[in-house]
Amino acid sequence: MSPAAAPADEVTVATLQLIVDATALLGGFGRAAIHLVRPDGRLEAVAGVGDGAECPDGLDAVPKLIERAEPWGRFRFRPADGAPDDGRWHDGDLLFAPLVDASGDLRGLFRLDRPVSGRRPDPALRDRLDLCAEQAGSAIVTALERERVAEQVRHAEAARALVRRATHHVAGDQPVESILTELGEALVTHFGLAALWIQLFGEDGEAPVLAHAAAPLTERPPITLDPRFVPYAPAIASRLWAEQAIGVYGRGERHHVDESNTEPVALAERYLADQDLESMLYAPLGAGSECLAQVTMVRTRGAPRWTGLEIEAVREIGRDLGAILFNARADQRDRELLADLRALDAHKSEMVATVSHELKNPLTAILTNLELAETAAPENVAQVLAAVDRSVQRMVSIVADLRTLGEMGAEDDPADVVPVDLAAIARDVVDLVGDAAGRRGLTLALRCPADPVLVTGHAAELDRVVMNLVGNAIKYSPDGGRIRVGVQPTPDEVVLTVADQGIGIDEEDQGRIFSEFFRSPNPRARAEPGTGLGLAIVRRIVERHGGRIELESALGAGATFRVRLPREAR
Ligand code: ADP
Repeated sequence: MSPAAAPADEVTVATLQLIVDATALLGGFGRAAIHLVRPDGRLEAVAGVGDGAECPDGLDAVPKLIERAEPWGRFRFRPADGAPDDGRWHDGDLLFAPLVDASGDLRGLFRLDRPVSGRRPDPALRDRLDLCAEQAGSAIVTALERERVAEQVRHAEAARALVRRATHHVAGDQPVESILTELGEALVTHFGLAALWIQLFGEDGEAPVLAHAAAPLTERPPITLDPRFVPYAPAIASRLWAEQAIGVYGRGERHHVDESNTEPVALAERYLADQDLESMLYAPLGAGSECLAQVTMVRTRGAPRWTGLEIEAVREIGRDLGAILFNARADQRDRELLADLRALDAHKSEMVATVSHELKNPLTAILTNLELAETAAPENVAQVLAAVDRSVQRMVSIVADLRTLGEMGAEDDPADVVPVDLAAIARDVVDLVGDAAGRRGLTLALRCPADPVLVTGHAAELDRVVMNLVGNAIKYSPDGGRIRVGVQPTPDEVVLTVADQGIGIDEEDQGRIFSEFFRSPNPRARAEPGTGLGLAIVRRIVERHGGRIELESALGAGATFRVRLPREAR
């Protein structure tokens, strides 16, 4: 370990010289000197009278010297070897005072020699000398304190400059967490912290740690942040942010602590004791009127108190870190918005291309048939017009589906909701399509309770759900298959099931069939007419009703759609 060096700035040296002069004059010594311990362990004379006074060879010799000397208050006296105790000063007599700091570490030596009287000091003089040694000691302690504060100020200013520079340079792709961690490490060094955490206040009352930095502490277990602070943190930080204040809770130091808020105060007390800490500083981070996050800084036991200048620096750093967070959040939102807009744009282009494509086919058919009609024999005109009519119907259904989809853009609950009997709807749909299914040899089996099965919603929309699913089951089933339709209440839900034994849907398509205009590339599916909008409409209606839709299928093995809707609250 390097020795504790004593400061030798101009003020300190001048003060020590004054003390040496006064001591030499009042005590009547021809030689007097103060030596200070330097960082390399040497003792260096910084103030002296006469030709100074020699000093022991080095720091190592001092303890032995002290041990063998006779204590005279703060001074020590060691007579020259073999000198008689006759009250006279002998060559080789040693009179010195070790100068120590507040913790008892040796910082220097005060040495006196060659009394003008030629005599060893009597008790009255020793008392006076004791006072001189006390003055020299306190001059050193004051200088040390001054140096410590100056050092703290330098560190605080360096930290402040560092964070300020980062505020201007936060750009590019470096994630905010890593920027904050880097800054956190610098703050740990500059403020002499044991650890630091930056926590972001979430909307759900959580406060996840965005950045953590700690000083390497080898002699003790790592310091952890007590999660029990989290519930109190947002309110405390917001109060501090509003007052633009920094909270400090330490052994014997308190700043902006709301003592009436007893629970967090008790928690802080226990925290300091459990983690063996000196103090905990709590700084809000924010921008404008909004407090976004907090930084918690802790110092280990025995560490210095927070000076006013340091607290001022932390306050400014809080504002700068707040700005970094605010900008990062704004950037993140911009990026998300941009991604959404791009996706929307791509979707729109895709939609326009698909709609034009879907409308182009029937339109071409209409144009071709109209040309044919001009030259057709009268007996064929009806057939040509029927073809035109089919194409028109297809265009009408595409436009109708698009309108439905457009009207259902909002995700809110459908307006004018009423209790709707889903079992009755299923019965109506099965009745309505029963004939068409029967003509293709398809069996339609309905299973539902005789009593109403109520959900809250919009009857026409729910009718559309059942109609689309049953319609698809018929459309994508080969002749002669069996289709099951069920409406089953459970304690919380109503489950509508539509199961067929048709062509089925492969796994890849299953993830896409609810998207607008998606039609399976499977040729058996493509053989059937369709817009690719039916299931997109179904999903929107179901979600608007607070429900969800599930699909179980495999290619060639039929498909089962299950719609789960919340049961009507009674
Ligand atoms: P459309 O039937 O008009 O093409 P949908 O949105 O109703 O549009 O269905 C999208 C796609 O999902 C269909 O093109 C088809 O490939 C597939 N699909 C829907 N229902 C079934 C089903 N019951 N069996 C097999 N495939 C189906």
